[in-house]
Amino acid sequence: MSLPSAEEVRAEVKAWLVDNWDPDVTVAEWWDRLGRSGYAAPTFPEDSWGKGWPRDLAMVVNEALDEHGAIGPPAGLGYLLAAPTIAAHGTDEQKQTLLLRILTGQDAWCQLFSEPGAGSDLASLQTKAVKDGDEWVITGQKVWTSTAQLTNLGMLIARTDPDLPKHKGITYFAFDMTQPGVEIRPLKEMTGRALFNEVFIDGARVRDDDIIGGLNSGWAVTNTTLMAERAGLGSGGSGAAGNAFPGPIAGQLDARVGDQVGQVRTGGTGGGGRMAAEGLIELARQRGLNTDPVIRQDLAQLYILTRIGKYAGLRAKSKSQRTGGEPNIAKLMMSDILRLQRHVGNAIIGADGMVMGRDTASGGIVQELTLFSPGPSIYGGTDQVQRNILGERVLGLPKEPGPPKETPFRELAVGTQR
Ligand SMILES: Cc1cc2nc3c(=O)[nH]c(=O)nc-3n(C[C@H](O)[C@H](O)[C@H](O)COP(=O)(O)OP(=O)(O)OC[C@H]3O[C@@H](n4cnc5c(N)ncnc54)[C@H](O)[C@@H]3O)c2cc1C
Repeated sequence: MSLPSAEEVRAEVKAWLVDNWDPDVTVAEWWDRLGRSGYAAPTFPEDSWGKGWPRDLAMVVNEALDEHGAIGPPAGLGYLLAAPTIAAHGTDEQKQTLLLRILTGQDAWCQLFSEPGAGSDLASLQTKAVKDGDEWVITGQKVWTSTAQLTNLGMLIARTDPDLPKHKGITYFAFDMTQPGVEIRPLKEMTGRALFNEVFIDGARVRDDDIIGGLNSGWAVTNTTLMAERAGLGSGGSGAAGNAFPGPIAGQLDARVGDQVGQVRTGGTGGGGRMAAEGLIELARQRGLNTDPVIRQDLAQLYILTRIGKYAGLRAKSKSQRTGGEPNIAKLMMSDILRLQRHVGNAIIGADGMVMGRDTASGGIVQELTLFSPGPSIYGGTDQVQRNILGERVLGLPKEPGPPKETPFRELAVGTQR
């Protein structure tokens, strides 16, 4: 298939926007048009509601949407994580139903991966799925489930066969969060918000048809989700796109779409957008600290890291130039950038950094960033885990010691606890 040039894509999208963008329609109607057009996920294949275009052309689409003043595809983990996973592993029917509903904003998804005893060692998960006719009965506990309170579906991984080795008896399900047997309890963070939750699952059900990627093949599917998370949230990543939150619970589908342009997303994961180097340079200027040599040096370092992160992200997304480990490196870089933003931001605002909302110049955003900054070096796999992956899978260093890979889960220390 011959690809269009960037100019052709820009002209095509602009012409489409003239016919289709209307600030007076509802968010639901706009996302329906965008999702079905192929411009919501241009990198997906054509049978998955995409255009089969490389990332650089997808960025041209995003720029065209932005320049036209239109809002992008739905925010949240459905678009960022579940959509690429279903595009890669879903059945044709799942692409026609689940995937389309994500791209058109009808459903909102959360990620039901981590458990109290399974975070970095995710394959030790104990939530179990027991077969009952053509359904599965799910029992277990998930934790740190971001935006669960706003979502109607979950990417659930559960153990379907404890007699298989721990990476092999796991299945990936599309899970109805609104059914009986699902209890969502908010966890309050030091930011003062409750972005994430504990989810208790007791006798909830999923159908055979809700399996994504095949029975007991969930580990490969999980890795697709995790790679999307690392690449999407790392430096140079696109983050959770869009200016509105999808699904029936957040209550934004019936809003006038023009009113959502430029709005802060519901349940976003925060981060340092407005506190990128340029924002902090302005803050330093306002505080008369732009001539301070140490602050200037830190700002220059932040600018350099941010630019390198951006270009490394772009290279990671251009398939032709992959050398391995790019999503992991991008995620590590994002953690470094956030820590430096926190450091230089607090050096600029000084003692004001100790009181939430006190600093009028930054509107409290340095304080927000400070409290949120540990998060990104934990979610999607901690910094240490990213380094382990780079060491073992990219550099070929020896693996961490552990029981033989073929040991049935039931015989592992963690597996015998229940
Ligand atoms: C803001 C935020 C949002 C999140 N959202 C979600 C979500 O929506 N869904 C979801 O499922 N999860 C979510 N998580 C959970 C996240 O994925 C886990 O916290 C993460 O995988 C780490 O697991 P853990 O907390 O159990 O820590 P542990 O795995 O217990 O790790 C504790 C410490 O030990 C280190 N460590 C562990 N193993 C090794 C090793 N082999 N080598 C070296 N060091 C090691 C870790 O790096 C860490 O410092 C979120 C987390 C955060 C902070």
